[in-house]
Amino acid sequence: MVQETILNEIVEWGRSIYSRGYVHGSAGNISVRVRDIIFITRHGVSLRSLSMEDVVPVSLGEKDELDHLASIELPIHREIYRVTGSSAIIHAHPVYTIVLSFEANEVKPIDVEGSFHLGSVSVVEGTPGSDSLAKAVSTRMGEKGIVVIRGHGVFSAGETLREAFEKIDMLEGSSKIIYLYKGKAAKP
Ligand SMILES: [Zn+2]
Repeated sequence: MVQETILNEIVEWGRSIYSRGYVHGSAGNISVRVRDIIFITRHGVSLRSLSMEDVVPVSLGEKDELDHLASIELPIHREIYRVTGSSAIIHAHPVYTIVLSFEANEVKPIDVEGSFHLGSVSVVEGTPGSDSLAKAVSTRMGEKGIVVIRGHGVFSAGETLREAFEKIDMLEGSSKIIYLYKGKAAKP
């Protein structure tokens, strides 16, 4: 029953993330940790049309026989759980945040709300699914539990998927404000 609730939650948040435009195609992945098990979305599925069968249970430890079914970003999810002790992770591709990431080492919201809640969010680099990216992401998330990967997307971790989602939502809103403000300021 607990497991069904978790799977349902992952399916619903997947749809929300897609409908907000924070992922496109089969991009993005979601996981929830329950003790030493990670429930993670499968490799190659679209968050738009997730079903409970698209969520794979794998061990929190090093390797699991179902690893090959999971998202290729599984090593990053594992490392985030190991380093931060959080219970839920969302990886998404929010457009304005990605645009800003090409030319910055941090995304620093200039609006009151984003600045208050997020402060400054680090931008890291690396190959998807690699150990070096897993290390960079997990160590640079900071207390806020969110980090940007240059030209790629964001990882957000929290106690719940709602918390992870809200940080992405807020960062993307702040990134849009920065983008529009810079464009306006650049005009004569
Ligand atoms: Zn991605």
